[in-house]
Amino acid sequence: MAPCHPQSPTPSSGHWTRLLQSWGAVLLERFYPGRCALCLDPAPAGLCAACASDLARPGPSCPTCAEPLPFAGDCPSCQRSPPRLDAVWAPFVYAWPLSHLLLAYKGGGRPQLGRPLGSLLAEHLPLIATDGVDRVIPVPLHERRLVYRGFNQAEDLARALCRQRDLCIDTRSVTRVRATPSQQGLSRRARRANLRGAFAVSADLSGERILLLDDVMTTGTTLNELADAVRRAGAARVTAVALARA
Ligand SMILES: [Zn+2]
Ligand SMILES: [Zn+2]
Repeated sequence: MAPCHPQSPTPSSGHWTRLLQSWGAVLLERFYPGRCALCLDPAPAGLCAACASDLARPGPSCPTCAEPLPFAGDCPSCQRSPPRLDAVWAPFVYAWPLSHLLLAYKGGGRPQLGRPLGSLLAEHLPLIATDGVDRVIPVPLHERRLVYRGFNQAEDLARALCRQRDLCIDTRSVTRVRATPSQQGLSRRARRANLRGAFAVSADLSGERILLLDDVMTTGTTLNELADAVRRAGAARVTAVALARA
């Protein structure tokens, strides 16, 4: 399975320098329809081509878990104990300014940023990631979190991807049955314990090829726990996509 395109992990600075000098970071707090969410140039899709091309892209990474590596091939962790996912793709690195956009989108209650972020994912995700996929399942939020935030960012991104690539989105078969505390600051083992039994699958997924989708992948604990639940429901192949890898 092909890893993310090896590219420089450091974004070129020219565009950002000009942007910051002329407008200031305060513009990142604004959003105007039909304008780029970062530089305010005209951009019907919500993010202009110059800003999109300056976002940090990963270098060589593990094809099984997308962990950044100094070489191509499986990482030591995947060699020791194979994860529950067959492959992971993340077209961007979780770094400024994408990290700022994602925080403004989720934490700042700005669902309108879902459109440019969804287009970004659909444009930059390799075609092989969605080849032969039977259904795309976005990581579900617990009901309480969904009511608080008002939208599920993974679902918005999945909708954009499915629309663009004519894929089937499934937002019903998996539910988050346990409200789990934040994973931040927890060890890998504690993260796993925190998420154990968090997802329930109501559909029979026998023989299906499932693509899971999240906005950001950090250690992969959430996606692996969900992959486990989906495999128990019969899925034959489970892969995952995140817009950004932390
Ligand atoms: Zn721009
Ligand atoms: Zn790995």
